[in-house]
Order: sequence, then C-alpha cells, then structure tokens
Amino acid sequence: MASVAKYDLLVLGAGSGGLGMGRRAARLGQKVALFEGSPVLGGTCVNVGCVPKKVMFNAAKHAEFLHDHAGYGFTVGEHSFSWNTLKTKRDAYIKRLNGIYETNVVKDKVDTFMAKAQFVSGHSEPTVEADGKLYTAPHICIATGGRPMVPDIPGAEHGITSDGFFELETQPKKVAVVGAGYIAVELAGIFGALGSEVDLFIRKEKVLRVFDDMLSEALMTELPRGGVAVHPHTQLQSVTKEADGTLTIKRISDGKEVSGSGYDCLLWAIGRVPNIEIGLDHVGVELERGHIKVDEFQNTSAKGVYAIGDVQGKALLTPVAIAAGRRLAHRLFDNQPTLKLDYNNIATVIFSHPTIGTVGPSEAEAIKEHGADKIKSYTTRSVNMYHALKDPKDKIPTIAKMITLLPEERILGLHIIGDGADEMIQGFAVAIKMGATHKDFNDTIAIHPTGSEEIVLM
Ligand code: FAD
Ligand code: NDP
Repeated sequence: MASVAKYDLLVLGAGSGGLGMGRRAARLGQKVALFEGSPVLGGTCVNVGCVPKKVMFNAAKHAEFLHDHAGYGFTVGEHSFSWNTLKTKRDAYIKRLNGIYETNVVKDKVDTFMAKAQFVSGHSEPTVEADGKLYTAPHICIATGGRPMVPDIPGAEHGITSDGFFELETQPKKVAVVGAGYIAVELAGIFGALGSEVDLFIRKEKVLRVFDDMLSEALMTELPRGGVAVHPHTQLQSVTKEADGTLTIKRISDGKEVSGSGYDCLLWAIGRVPNIEIGLDHVGVELERGHIKVDEFQNTSAKGVYAIGDVQGKALLTPVAIAAGRRLAHRLFDNQPTLKLDYNNIATVIFSHPTIGTVGPSEAEAIKEHGADKIKSYTTRSVNMYHALKDPKDKIPTIAKMITLLPEERILGLHIIGDGADEMIQGFAVAIKMGATHKDFNDTIAIHPTGSEEIVLM
C-alpha cells in the first residue's frame, strides 16, 4: 500500500482563494500542501482574468483619451496601436506576478505541488492523489475555481472564450461577442474602444440583467457610443469557418433567421462552470445548482472538507475568494470559531465603457424584500466636467441611483455608471456597510468639481 503524506491542511487550487487560504494557514503555523493543476500559480485572476483584463482596459482608456485630445487643444500626430506589443508587455508582467507568487509560497513555507489533485476512494480519511502520490489532512479546502462555458451548437469550437482572448496575438478586425454579463460587456468594450468592429449578441432585451435596471439601460445606450453594436433577442444557431479563415454565423434575431459573415473572431462569454471533476463522490461532497454546496462557514457536506471561491458559486470575485480563504484559515487555526465571510454588500465594478460601480441590492430586489412602501430611491444624472468642452453628442453622462430603506432612509444600495465609477464605489461601500443614511451622505460636504460630489448631493 502506497504511503500517505500527512499535513494539517491540503488546498486544491492555487488561485485567489487557494493562495489566500494556504498562505494564511501556513503563517498561522500549519503544515500546508497546495496543489495547482496548471503550470503557473495565481489562477484565473492573475493569468486569464482581472489582471490581464485590466491591462487591456487601460489600453482601451488610452484610445478614448486620444479621441478627446483635440477637444483640449492638442494636435495629435500620427499614431498607431500594436496589440501584439501590448500583449508581449502584458505577458511579461503576468510572468513577473507568477514569479512573485512562487517566491511568496516559498517564503510562507507552503509545500507547493504543480499537479492536478483529486479525491480517491479506499481510505478511512479523505485522501487526495496528485502525481501518483497520496496526501491526507484533517482539513481539506477545495479552491479549484471554474472555466468558461461554450454552447452546444454546430461550429461552436471555432469561437474562443475569455481564455482565448488573452492568447490573441493580433487585434481582430470584426468580432462577434455572445453573452450579456461582466465578461461580454468588458471585452466587447475593449475591442470597440481599440477600433475593432464589434457585434454583441444577447439573447434577452438588455445586458447585465441581474443588476439595477438603471445600470443595464444606461449601458445599452453607451455600448454603441463605444463602437459596440448590440443585437438583443438574438441566439446563435451555427458557426461555419470559411476557406479564408473567417467565420459565418447563423442566428435567430427577433424570430428571424439572419446570417452574418466576415468575422475574424467569435468570443463566447455566456458564463462559467465550476471545476468539480475531482472525485467529490469519494468524500460525499454534495452539489447545489451545479456548484459545491457550502454553509455560511464554507463547510461542505463532508466533515473537514471546505470550498471557497468560484467553485462554490457565490459572488465570483477575486477579493471574495481571498477573504473567504483567509477567514476560514483564522476560523480553523486561529481560535476564531465564529469567523465567516459576510456575503452581503459586496461592492463590485464592471470595467465597461463607462465603468459601473455597484453595491447592495437593485431597486427591484429591495422592493421584493422590503415592499415598495418601505423603499425610497434617489437618482441623479450629470455630466462630468471632463466632457464640458466636447460636442454634446460625445458627452457621457454619470448616472447614480441610491436605494434607501424607510423610515431612516438607511442606504441599502448604490449604483453608479460613469467616469470614475470604478474608483468611487469602494469608499461609499464602507459607509453603506457601516449603516450610513441618506442624511449622512447629505451631511458630508461635497468635493468640487468631481463626479462623486453628485452622490452626496442627491
Ligand atoms: P481560480 O482563480 O480560478 O483558481 C483555481 C485554480 O485551481 C486554478 O489555478 C486552476 O488551475 C486550479 N485547479 C483546478 N482544478 C484543479 C485540481 N483538480 N487540482 C489542482 N488545481 C486545480 N474578479 C474580480 O474581482 N475583478 C475582476 O476584474 C475580474 N475580472 C475577471 C475577468 C475575467 C475574464 C474572468 C474570467 C474572471 C474575472 N474575475 C474578476 C473573477 C475572478 O478571476 C475569480 O472570481 C477568481 O479568480 C476566483 O478565484 P478562485 O480561487 O475561486 O479560482
Ligand atoms: P455572467 O454570469 O456574469 O454572465 C453570463 C451571461 O450570459 C448570463 O447572465 C446570461 O445573460 C448570458 N447567457 C447565458 N447563457 C447564454 C447562452 N447560451 N447564450 C447567450 N447568452 C447566454 O458570466 P461571465 O462569464 O460574464 O462572468 C463570470 C463571472 O466572473 C461573473 O459573474 C463575475 O462574477 C466574474 N467576473 C467579474 C468581473 C469583474 O469583477 N469586473 C469581470 C469578469 C468576470 P442573460 O440571461 O441576460 O442572457
């Protein structure tokens, strides 16, 4: 019988959550084994998510600024953009980050194994196999994240996903993006700002339907301004690769069959599925709506087995995975038995053009929970002074909506779309978490001239 290596904690997956949990537990004196199935540390966020996406978003912002320079009196000379140069620099940056993670796990004395791990049967304690070796521990944390979904239609394999977006060596000229969530609007916006011709195909009436109506409706207006043609009520039927390498797509748009050709890129952004093919049956870990079922303390249905991050399906965001992992480490190994992550009021940003910052429930959700007579909302619409010298048609509005609970008018939700919304929302989220009211915001003197002053003047 093969010997089983014993640890205090095993962590499956070295992404945001796994690194957060594993490193914190090691710092708390635990013997930790961390397994990573891909060749690099850092997971989705670092390699094919937040980080390279933000680099591309920043590049797109440059393109927008270039467009605005003339209005501010600059005569902008000949300029060009090389997607490939940007990619090379971006890849080098990510490689540096991978190296920093490698250094950090060594510094924290985490035993790191670059191998796919899975649960195996035939042992009295939950046991994991990786690279032919066996490991066990009283505590095992699943942090295996997820991967992009591809639909089951003929020719779907000719498309790429967000993973493939980061592999593109050159900028596509004509792109079809399918989906209506974070990734669809962010990546369509980047392509559009950088000058690709973009068709965004959404199956319902608008993008970002899970957010407040104000945000999704405002973004529907702004997407075309950013070079993205939105096609509502559209579902793709098939994709064909032509002899010249371009893609032809057949779709049902508003009930009619339509064909579109000449795409040199098709990007699926229709959601993600969790990485759960890790022998969960062998330890009795149950699923809920396809994700690993956990309670509020990240416990799965198997004793001593936990799940954090995207694999548990709630709030698929990097800081959430890290915070859940760190809190779990303190709960298990730092004598803080009641510590858990509060999943309420998590602020989030959508790096669309313009950006969205949002925290708390939408107006519809607040009304559903508390009743329409208990909810009072405020909305403000302004134009950031940055746009003052522009042609009226190019002036991008900032719209903000505050949802309050009567009678105190405690702020439940705040939703902002406009310049700088991405950098505004964090501070307001602190105040909301602390129970701020509409009056508290009004009592705060505005900072002029900024976009955020509108939030305390509503
Ligand atoms: P991951 O980071 O996915 O890590 C899981 C790790 O487990 C991976 O490295 C994987 O290789 C490994 N693994 C899988 N199976 C096994 C196995 N059997 N054994 C060993 N290892 C395994 N979030 C934000 O907060 N802000 C953003 O701006 C943002 N932008 C995003 C942009 C894109 C395009 C995408 C796709 C996501 C973005 N996210 C963003 C979401 C964020 O990346 C995820 O929420 C976060 O990475 C989840 O962390 P995790 O630890 O749960 O999973
Ligand atoms: P999302 O779940 O955000 O959005 C996917 C959307 O695509 C669905 O809401 C649905 O919208 C639509 N869709 C689903 N199936 C189909 C289909 N078959 N055909 C057409 N459209 C379909 O997933 P994403 O992949 O965009 O992102 C995954 C997660 O990653 C996000 O939820 C977010 O938590 C995280 N993320 C965070 C970012 C950030 O913090 N800035 C950036 C990127 C990702 P509908 O029902 O309206 O059609």
